[in-house]
Amino acid sequence: MYSGGWVRRPSQSGLSKNAHQGKQTMPTLAQGQSQTAVPQTQPEVRKTVHYQIVIIGGGAAGITTTSLLLAKNRSLDIAIIEPSDKHYYQPGWTLTGGGVFQIQDTVKHQKDLIPKGATWIKDRAVTLDPDKNAVCTSEGIRVEYDCLIVCPGIQVDWHLIKGLKEAIGKDGVTSNYSPRYAPYTWELIKNFQGGNALFTFPNTPIKCGGAPQKVMYMADDVFRSKWGVRQRTKVMFLTPATRMFAVPVYSRILEGVVKEREIEVKFHHNLKEIKAGTKEAIFDVLGDGGSVGEFSVKYDMIHVAPPQSAPDFIKNSPLAVPNSPYGWVDVDKDTLQHNRYPNVFAIGDASSLPTSKTAAAVRKQAPVVAENLLAFMASQPLRAKYDGYTCCPLITGYDKTVMSEFDGYSGRPMSSFPLNPAKERWVMWLMKKHVLPWVYWNRMLKGARFEGDYIKFLQWREK
Ligand SMILES: Cc1cc2nc3c(=O)[nH]c(=O)nc-3n(C[C@H](O)[C@H](O)[C@H](O)COP(=O)(O)OP(=O)(O)OC[C@H]3O[C@@H](n4cnc5c(N)ncnc54)[C@H](O)[C@@H]3O)c2cc1C
Repeated sequence: MYSGGWVRRPSQSGLSKNAHQGKQTMPTLAQGQSQTAVPQTQPEVRKTVHYQIVIIGGGAAGITTTSLLLAKNRSLDIAIIEPSDKHYYQPGWTLTGGGVFQIQDTVKHQKDLIPKGATWIKDRAVTLDPDKNAVCTSEGIRVEYDCLIVCPGIQVDWHLIKGLKEAIGKDGVTSNYSPRYAPYTWELIKNFQGGNALFTFPNTPIKCGGAPQKVMYMADDVFRSKWGVRQRTKVMFLTPATRMFAVPVYSRILEGVVKEREIEVKFHHNLKEIKAGTKEAIFDVLGDGGSVGEFSVKYDMIHVAPPQSAPDFIKNSPLAVPNSPYGWVDVDKDTLQHNRYPNVFAIGDASSLPTSKTAAAVRKQAPVVAENLLAFMASQPLRAKYDGYTCCPLITGYDKTVMSEFDGYSGRPMSSFPLNPAKERWVMWLMKKHVLPWVYWNRMLKGARFEGDYIKFLQWREK
């Protein structure tokens, strides 16, 4: 059943030196190995419009920030460029893959969420011209602005794993990183009868760095609940990283979890190909400076966390971090203002903020952008600062979650509750399953104050 083996075959792909040395667990592509952006063609301009504030992306960041801005000043003239009719609560995709939610539980109509007072331009931004304060859409609308907020989320680069696009969604290959495939994850898990169950992590930053593991712990619970299935199953987690999680205190907990569950972990392993015909997954084995060999293993099911980067239209623009393979919007980590274009701000997954990319991080970034953008418009100093806060609730089983809140800039654990966060807790599972989705739809997107702020004096603090 298990046919993993080594083939020494050096190749060019791999991690940066830091990632190998364990100085950071967030893997990065090697210098010069770009997430090659597809060049965008400039559509013919059919119409020009102008708004005081233009927001690219009506996801977690775009809607939250618009609500906050309008709460501060109802007369602001704001347009949101957003192509999709649907707005997803993406953290719910993990629970969909685990059979707790249906995919329809994670989605609402975008029209019901765009804050009253904002204009929705239902179109896709395709080119950025920050020297002329303009964005062009795919339908040829030139949208000019006084100030711009860039938050179109992250791009999932399925194509960077050979064979994945063709294989995914059938014959045991799945990913919770798309609403299309998250329900199939549950199909696979609940019908699994034994064999090799693989879970992978890519060699790029991703949104919610814990998601590739959460699904694995739920799958392991299901396998154990069915007579003889876990005994017939090898569960493997394969990652280019050098530890289980970026923050040491949470990483140690997860090391205990994989040990207790007898999950085989392979560090320095980067998925590069799916051979659907033979149901094989091929990994680069990474050493200092790149690949030192190849590892192939048969799968009966594989959950892939695909490589990710900034959307191509950002990579192709002057707003991107210069010479970076990922193309994030280049902003100051404290003020969230662009490093070269002062009337441009960015938040969320597409930004260069060196913290873990989550909706929880967006919750703390949005008030900073709202305050600083208004200060900029009033020619005042930018006083609000983002502290790197993020949170990735680590589901470690159907009734357990580690509410891993932390300062992504320093790796210091934090807590919004009067409880030590470095523990698996049932109450945090209830929080993840019932409370956080409600908070997202009913408070965060409406610009309500962060709940933890009401009990600041009670919150757990690291001694
Ligand atoms: C499986 C999974 C599990 C997760 N779990 C958690 C969790 O437990 N906790 C947590 O906090 N976070 C979690 N996240 C991450 C969280 O969902 C994201 O970090 C968050 O949604 C980022 O917000 P954003 O606004 O930057 O991007 P998004 O919410 O993705 O919104 C981007 C928006 O921009 C739009 N857009 C895209 N391209 C363009 C364009 N060219 N022009 C205009 N608009 C465009 C999109 O349609 C979308 O509406 C998870 C994500 C996934 C996939």
